[in-house]
Amino acid sequence: MMRGLLVFATLFVAALCRETFVGDKVLRIIPKNEAQLSFLKSMEDMPEIDVWRGVTEVGIPVDIRVPVQHLPVVKVHLQSQDIQHSTMIEDLQVLLDEEQEGMESAARFAEPRNTDSFDYSNYHTLSEIYSFQDMLVAENPSLVSKIVIGQSYQGRALNVLKFSTGGSKRPAIWIDTGIHSREWVTQASGTWFAKKIVTDYGKDPALTAILNKMDIFLEIVTNPDGFYYTHNNNRMWRKTRKPNPGSSCVGVDPNRNWDAGFGGPGASGSPCSETYRGTRAHSESEVKSIVDFVKAHGNIKAFISIHSYSQMLLYPYGYTRTPVKEQAELTKLVGEPLTGLTTKGSSTPTPLRRLGWLS
Ligand SMILES: [Zn+2]
Repeated sequence: MMRGLLVFATLFVAALCRETFVGDKVLRIIPKNEAQLSFLKSMEDMPEIDVWRGVTEVGIPVDIRVPVQHLPVVKVHLQSQDIQHSTMIEDLQVLLDEEQEGMESAARFAEPRNTDSFDYSNYHTLSEIYSFQDMLVAENPSLVSKIVIGQSYQGRALNVLKFSTGGSKRPAIWIDTGIHSREWVTQASGTWFAKKIVTDYGKDPALTAILNKMDIFLEIVTNPDGFYYTHNNNRMWRKTRKPNPGSSCVGVDPNRNWDAGFGGPGASGSPCSETYRGTRAHSESEVKSIVDFVKAHGNIKAFISIHSYSQMLLYPYGYTRTPVKEQAELTKLVGEPLTGLTTKGSSTPTPLRRLGWLS
């Protein structure tokens, strides 16, 4: 009985408490040569670190979050190879507290009655984004509709907004945001895109021309279970929330779960890894639902997935350096590579074109 009570009490506390990141640092490391590059690559799967921007090329920054208790061991590791680092974030929790304050002050305003009074400059919860979508559809019934393409592992609706000016079997563009749940600025951007599309249709010539010929499908919260978890339990949650049999670690990286180079480089076979690919391709309903939808549609001309952060434009393939058929066109589309350059007066690199690997 006592033991039962203890277990219950522990569960209760776990359910109420948000994980904190007091003293956690984000380090930036710029690999100087191939040796440092491969050493950093070998560090990527260390359970002590959380990779925010993965290893790519010499001269391109690698950003890692290091929990305060693991700082000494990680620093020793870096020093052993004479690898320099700078500290980008001194204390992650300070930034998360500020973010939370922003959300709470926004929530003090009355709940928005329409998408004009929606606060686009603050983050929102899952239910707020879901009601935003419904309001947008109600306000623009001839342009926007909502399609439910499936359910998440925990039974949440996988909502897709369809922007269409008519026609049947029109070619279409797919856009998803938030497949990695902690990348909050992407769900926020998706919300803004949705409003921007209805506002600019008929005014912006480029967008109007697109919508007169094509449909746009937008999935704003692509990983709703993970997103809910980032708001209520762990702000740094990236994966799905499906348990992994035989492991205490939960979730699959949905962006390593596609049937494209499944199990290849850039993905992990370990359930505890942030890049765990799952037991098989499309094992996650959040991924399978998109695949089924795109295949059934049969006329998707562009598929765009929005991530944060790293200022990069990535295009296929994600798992091999073999060029795609449309390589020249894609290169033209995303512009020249600006590897290693920084914008004047800013330490933020300008957009980089990158072949291969995933984010
Ligand atoms: Zn991502």
